[in-house]
Amino acid sequence: MFKIIFLIIVLLVFLFIYSAKKKIDAFLDNMFPKNSNRVHSANNNEEELVKCENCGTYIPKSQAIKKIRIGKKPLYFCSEKCKKEYKGR
Ligand SMILES: [Zn+2]
Repeated sequence: MFKIIFLIIVLLVFLFIYSAKKKIDAFLDNMFPKNSNRVHSANNNEEELVKCENCGTYIPKSQAIKKIRIGKKPLYFCSEKCKKEYKGR
């Protein structure tokens, strides 16, 4: 008889944990809504402008020519011409 009661209690505990987990998930969804991803992608849509290191023109990051420097910030150029001119310095 005690075995059955014990099993029922274990089952109830499992059910409780399971429903609590669902509640926690819902709570976390409210706290950190999925639109945090939306905000992130909205920021991506708003093109970040970068400054050409050679002539100082601001260009959208996607159109900029990137020069990666190891251990330093990458450099951005508005055109291949500017990149070459910068190298020439
Ligand atoms: Zn330039």
